[in-house]
Amino acid sequence: MSDVLSGLESMGLGNLSNIELFNDKKQKADEEKKKAEKAKEVKELEEKDLIYLKNVECPCCGKEFKERAIRPGKARMISQDTDLRPRYKELDTMKYNVTACPVCGYAALTRDFTHLSSGQARLVKEKISMNFTGLKYDGDTYSYDEAIARGKLALVSTVVKRGKISERAYICLTLGWLTRGKAESIAEDVPGREAMMSRFSEEENGYLLKAAEGFTEALLKESFPICGLDEYTFFYLLSALDYETGRYNDALKFVEKILINRAVSERIKDKARRIKEAISEIRSS
Ligand SMILES: [Zn+2]
Repeated sequence: MSDVLSGLESMGLGNLSNIELFNDKKQKADEEKKKAEKAKEVKELEEKDLIYLKNVECPCCGKEFKERAIRPGKARMISQDTDLRPRYKELDTMKYNVTACPVCGYAALTRDFTHLSSGQARLVKEKISMNFTGLKYDGDTYSYDEAIARGKLALVSTVVKRGKISERAYICLTLGWLTRGKAESIAEDVPGREAMMSRFSEEENGYLLKAAEGFTEALLKESFPICGLDEYTFFYLLSALDYETGRYNDALKFVEKILINRAVSERIKDKARRIKEAISEIRSS
């Protein structure tokens, strides 16, 4: 080939002097290879690529610390479970929805972290900081166990500071979601998987029951929006939790409330109908 194309060097095109004149296969294969590599790069955006360290000042002890957080706008939501648990392509965002001070042990859902009165701070210091031994993480990301432990820390902080019932219930809900995520993350070939799955499913059920109990109480004591949800989305969430924990009659009561109201969006009505259908299927089988 070099004979035919010799002299290209003088025009700065020496890199083309070995080009295949009539056989495009190699060129195509090269292009395909490059394409595949590029796709791999996009596909392999991992959890750690979406995490950065955020500076936070603790409203309880006043110390500054660094917290793992998700880069805004990077994670892509792909679907939602029946109980509105969001699923993202790259990571389980629920692992990062708690902010916890590694110095004094005060923790909360990130959106509620700064809402702390001096009276509440005193309660946290007395009941938590006095005995708190600290938090330490080795990895760039949180494992499910770490995230669940952080969720529990947020839950006790929220109870101790006498936070809203809905706030406590929502943390229970996220603990249920994290337990579901943990179960889903177990590879199929792990020995004893079945037993683990059934234990996690029981634990998840416990969290969802607590969430439903708290939300039902919040319904009596708080006004909408509750946890950022309007009345009928909240009814839908309750129907989903009742359905998932096997309390079908309670679930159907909320479904009916949703279906008879003309003002409710079709999106919520469709979701409610799916719960109704699922329950009739279970009951007829
Ligand atoms: Zn602190």
